[in-house]
Formats: sequence, structure tokens, C-alpha cells
Amino acid sequence: LSKAQELVGQIKSRQQLLDQGVLGKFNLDGKVALVTGAGQGIGEALAHGLGEAGCKVAVCDLEFSRVERVAADLAAKGIPSLAVKVDVSNKEDVEAMVKAIVDKFGDLDIACNNAGIVYSTTENHSVDIPQTQWERTMAVNLNGVFYCCQAEGKHMLKKGKGKIINTASMSGTIVNHPQIQAAYNASKAGCVHMTKSLGAEWADRGVNVNCISPGYVDTALNRTEALTPIREQWIRETPAKRLADVQDLVGAIIYLASPLSDYCNGLDMIIDGGFTLW
Ligand code: NAD
Repeated sequence: LSKAQELVGQIKSRQQLLDQGVLGKFNLDGKVALVTGAGQGIGEALAHGLGEAGCKVAVCDLEFSRVERVAADLAAKGIPSLAVKVDVSNKEDVEAMVKAIVDKFGDLDIACNNAGIVYSTTENHSVDIPQTQWERTMAVNLNGVFYCCQAEGKHMLKKGKGKIINTASMSGTIVNHPQIQAAYNASKAGCVHMTKSLGAEWADRGVNVNCISPGYVDTALNRTEALTPIREQWIRETPAKRLADVQDLVGAIIYLASPLSDYCNGLDMIIDGGFTLW
């Protein structure tokens, strides 16, 4: 009898799932998500998007005061949140971040490894870029994303389920111009290919690893006065004739965090208003 009851239960829950339809599958109710670099810009928007989709959200950043504010904003919307200070370039820090989140919320289902840096310059200065800048770019944008995937992957692989979404950049695929940044471009190319490698490695173990690659986004990263003329050129050369708004990236994250993307592994989702088409 208990076998029959179990079967009826399974059929009912399957029916419930079908009843919810495709939109129901975007519902991330009760899932635990983390976002690094969540103190501002793209990461802050991703944290709000995941929270609105039903997640409990850990917002993680080097600048603790920023994520304290974001966590308070999420809490004001009724979204359970946690602010964590982390330097993603430090492996121990990253492991402590994952532990703090699992201790607080009991699990980790979705991880957006979004923290990244660029040393802005209007010069193409590869001949004399300070070694410290080259190394810090790699430490945050490449090593940092790997340490995050590793610590999150350890937890997710144990339970055979999880969604990891890295923020790479279209600069990982093309050489952006007129401002060529070899360190940034190389770090993002590494991020894209590492995502593909981990995506393949963990594909049959229930963990999806994918990345988004934004084009030029209207955030603090690009709002410096020195970049004003370059911003105008970017807009001219973008088929969509505008920079991306942070909200343009949120839908992709919800999709990649949802069961609808279970067959996506190592995907590099370029979201650039068509910039890389020309
Ligand atoms: P941002 O500078 O506005 O925000 C980045 C956040 O990351 C900041 O709050 C910062 O404190 C945090 N951070 C920096 N180093 C860190 C570290 N070591 N550990 C933890 N947190 C750290 O940047 P953004 O524009 O929101 O960019 C977010 C991501 O998107 C980055 O990876 C960036 O490379 C990528 N991206 C941005 C653009 C763009 O045009 N803005 C385009 C493509 C890709």
C-alpha cells in the first residue's frame, strides 16, 4: 500500500508542477542564493532579482558597508538576507563565506560569482602596466571566480544539485576598443573558458556552471569622467544604441538559476545589445 501511496504522491506532485506551467518554473521560492560583488552595480541588481524570484540572498562584497545597505534594502522588501564581507581573491575568505551562508540558511543552491575589477585607463598601456595591476586583475577576476566555484561546487556536488553563474564579459571573447585592456580581457577570457571546463566537468553531477558576458553596462565602473568620450563611441557602435541597464542582465540570471536551464552547461550568454555582432 505504501508503494501505491508513494506513487500517487509522485503523480500529484508531477501534476502540480505541470499545473504551474512554464512561469512556475521561474519561481525560486525558498532557494538560497549568493552574489559576490553585490555592493553595487550589476551584483546589487542580481541580488534584488533573485530575492524577488523567491530566494534568500547572501550579498557578499569586499566593501562591507555597501552590502550592509543592500541587505537592509532586501530586508525592507521582506527578502531574507545576509551581508558577508569577502575578498574573493583570498581562498580562505571564500571558504568562510560559503560556510557562513550554509550556517545561516542551511543550504546553498545558486551562486553568482560576479565580483570583478578593471583598472580604467584611456591609454592602451600594456607596455608599462604595473605588475601589481596585472596580478590584482587576475587575482580577482580569474582566481577569485575559481575559488568561489570550488567552495560552492564542493557543497553543491555533495548534494548533486546546484547552479553556478559567473559574470564574465564580452571582453573575454572580443578585443574591446578603443580602450584595449589586455589584463582585463585575458582575465575574462580565462573566466569564460574556466566556466566551460567546470560546466563539462560537473554536468553529470547535477551542478550547472554557466556565465553571462555583458557588453557595456551603465555602472560606476564606466561612469568616470575620463571615459565620457569613449562611452559615446560605445553607444554609437552598439546596434541597440544604448549602454545596458543593470536590469537587462537580471532575466538571464533567473533563467540560469531555474530548472529551465538544467541542460545548459558551460554556456556563455553574451548580453551586449549586439555589440559583438559588428
Ligand atoms: P562595480 O565596480 O560597480 O561593482 C563591483 C563590486 O565588486 C563592488 O561593490 C566592489 O566592492 C566588489 N569587489 C571588487 N573587488 C572585490 C573582491 N576582491 N572581493 C569581493 N568583492 C569585490 O562593477 P559592475 O559594473 O557592477 O561589474 C560587476 C561585474 O560585471 C564585474 O565582474 C565586471 O567585470 C563585469 N562586467 C561589467 C561590465 C560593465 O560595463 N559594467 C561589462 C562586462 C562585465
